[in-house]
Amino acid sequence: MVKFEDLDLDRIVEDVLSGGELDRETARALLNCPDQRLGDLLAATLRVRQAAFGRRVKLCMLRNARSGICPEDCGYCSQSRLSRADIPVYKLQSIQQLVEGADRAAQAGARRYCMVTSGRGPDARDIEHFGETCERIRERFPELEICLSLGLMEREQADALKGAGAGWVNHNLNTSRRFYPSICTTHTWDDRVRTIENVREAGLATCSGGIVGMGESEDDLLDLAYATRRLNIDSVPVNFLNPIRGTPMEGRRELTPQACLKALCLFRLLNPASEVRAAGGRELNLGELQGYALYAVNSIFVDGYLTTPGLAVAATREMIERMGFEVEEQD
Ligand code: SF4
Repeated sequence: MVKFEDLDLDRIVEDVLSGGELDRETARALLNCPDQRLGDLLAATLRVRQAAFGRRVKLCMLRNARSGICPEDCGYCSQSRLSRADIPVYKLQSIQQLVEGADRAAQAGARRYCMVTSGRGPDARDIEHFGETCERIRERFPELEICLSLGLMEREQADALKGAGAGWVNHNLNTSRRFYPSICTTHTWDDRVRTIENVREAGLATCSGGIVGMGESEDDLLDLAYATRRLNIDSVPVNFLNPIRGTPMEGRRELTPQACLKALCLFRLLNPASEVRAAGGRELNLGELQGYALYAVNSIFVDGYLTTPGLAVAATREMIERMGFEVEEQD
């Protein structure tokens, strides 16, 4: 077994920057970095992050466009059919409400605005609704990157959204193929991969990552990280489980801030030129260390997640500056 102490971090950085793929035992050793050496791992990861993104940080804002009553059974999700969480429940928001959300994102300096719906996947009316929404947002905020996260998606649906001006589609792999049945039984990991392929074939950029801390093994985490590399994902959000009360995963707290940072380093070193983003559960699980996530990621969310709060815009900007990074502004 390779130990962290045996690794030559300079050599790893050079290999990664010249296009090499970390071998699995090296990746495992990185995940097992002793906490006292985390500073060295973060410093090495920062060199890779800086090569592609300098010290820029892209802000993203989410919008829960339809909340609750999902027929799927994703165990981590407060909107699933298994959840008893006390969350807002509402139908698809109007085009006007969604455009107002884009306005809010633009005012906050977010570069990307991601509209998300609960549900297995969009129907024809949803696609039409979001198509028109994308057109309206493109007219008013041409610089804003539009992302949609609507569930499982067919190629024709992705084509329609691309034609309407969407740039990105999010659909997370969530975990390894092996562990997937332990978190969801109503669709499969392969279903999710098919959606990612449909999105890419339509010419949209892919956004797909996972959730750390759902009871997966180290090998599951490694599998997920390698899957994001091999699928050549453009944008990789890394979430950390927020065990929401009323969900099957309530009470599960297995992450330390240090473990979260090591996971982020792994995703960055396997995806040197992709966007890597610290996503949901960042505030809860990284606590005071969340600023160090910026050594690995080039993008973070502002103002909360779908059904959970997060750091507000001003406080996020302050943290970024305090850590010596800069918010990526619109051109
Ligand atoms: S499909 Fe989406 S909204 Fe539905 S339970 Fe799964 S994660 Fe939640």
